[in-house]
Amino acid sequence: MNLYEKTAHELHELLTKKEISAVELTENIFSRIDEKESEIGAYITLTRDVAEKSARSVDEKISRGEKILPLEGIPCAIKDNICTKGIKTTCASKILANFVPPYDATAYKKLSAQNPVVLGKTNLDEFAMGGSTENSGFHVTKNPHDTTRVPGGSSGGSAAAVASGEAIFSLGSDTGGSIRQPASFCGVVGLKPTYGRVSRYGLVAYASSLDQIGPITRDVTDCANVLNAIAGHDEMDSTSTPANVPDFTKSLVADVKGLKIGLPKEYFVKGIDAEVEKSVRDAAKVFENLGAEIFEISLPHTEFAISTYYLIAPAEAATNLERYDGVSYGERIDGADVVDMMKNTRSKLFGEEVKRRIMIGNYALSAGYYDAYYLKALKVRTLIQKDFVDAFKNVDVILAPTAPTAAFKIGEMISNPLKMYLQDVFTVPLNLAGLPGISLPCGWTKNNLPIGFQLIGKALDEETILRAAFTYELQASSFKL
Ligand code: GLN
Repeated sequence: MNLYEKTAHELHELLTKKEISAVELTENIFSRIDEKESEIGAYITLTRDVAEKSARSVDEKISRGEKILPLEGIPCAIKDNICTKGIKTTCASKILANFVPPYDATAYKKLSAQNPVVLGKTNLDEFAMGGSTENSGFHVTKNPHDTTRVPGGSSGGSAAAVASGEAIFSLGSDTGGSIRQPASFCGVVGLKPTYGRVSRYGLVAYASSLDQIGPITRDVTDCANVLNAIAGHDEMDSTSTPANVPDFTKSLVADVKGLKIGLPKEYFVKGIDAEVEKSVRDAAKVFENLGAEIFEISLPHTEFAISTYYLIAPAEAATNLERYDGVSYGERIDGADVVDMMKNTRSKLFGEEVKRRIMIGNYALSAGYYDAYYLKALKVRTLIQKDFVDAFKNVDVILAPTAPTAAFKIGEMISNPLKMYLQDVFTVPLNLAGLPGISLPCGWTKNNLPIGFQLIGKALDEETILRAAFTYELQASSFKL
């Protein structure tokens, strides 16, 4: 097996036993990148120098006989909306094409404390708005399992890098599914933590009440290790939770006996692909055979989740993106006067989808429509949250498909935004409710495309979904390069 095919914990062992060096591992993965990147396009920026420097420092540490941390020397990739000091952070937008942050995002800083080998910054839908990575201002990332298809989005580059052997793990961000859906399309593991579990400081804001950073990995063990590295309260993010952070690797226990798992009936409806539905129901059977109890549950307001999300997210986005005015941040296109300059800058440098959302958002927030749209959406959000609170009175975990279909064709939905938005039907409710969710591979379609399902947990209960995921994976692991 090639080094680039292994998990982080396998590589950690090889490094610890001195069977490989971090420099050798880094060279191996860069030669894989050289081989695959022109076909996949997972990255916006590669940081070879930074990577080689970290690898050398890890080898020195090992040769001094010092113990290394779980992610030390492991090659990883960072979504390009997470600020990295001294390394370009573009959000896949022409407006930030040359933005070099003067500071690190807290999640990245915490990860860096483990001294992983950072390979580069990955592609995304511009400002994380989208579900296919086709909205990138630079290029489209391809699905490593079928390059005529999308890798999902918006963390498509991060998922494709892990799935193609161009990184061992990565960081993504999830506002309405952007970690879980690309993980499911690419056949890898992706976890959206509870809102507030990971600091948003330095994550370029899309919709601040929904955004979370999380891991994309090849297995659940790596997922727990990366979450350990990035979670925790941060005084720079007032919405980060002061709650204690458990050691998530303690959840890697194979035991789901007596675990109550709910299957929401609203998530198994018309529109879901038959192969996806079968695979997800089979996953539920695996749990049942392992001693879990399966219940049908109801999340009655699910049908309103998409409209609610597509009012709240654009409203917050419109506000957050006001800062790109050609003055405070980013690129500028000059004009006859200041207003003309702003008009030029924003109309020429934002892509179509970003402009669409700014318009929807400002409309929903405008004086005459605020009550009818934005305020109404906030009220429905509360009902969706309550659905989950009620459901969790009877079950410990909710099991559902991650997306209604496997990866779709490049170009198939891009001219029909509404159809694209509907793809998010199973992922956005969690963000609206602030809950943690993990997407895991559970099978393959006839066309050899990965299928994923998600386990949804109570707020701050990543431990239970990690335990369930770990148990499932031992029975039915299906990661393959
Ligand atoms: N696809 C959703 C959207 O377009 C989710 C994106 C995300 O989670 N960043 O907004």
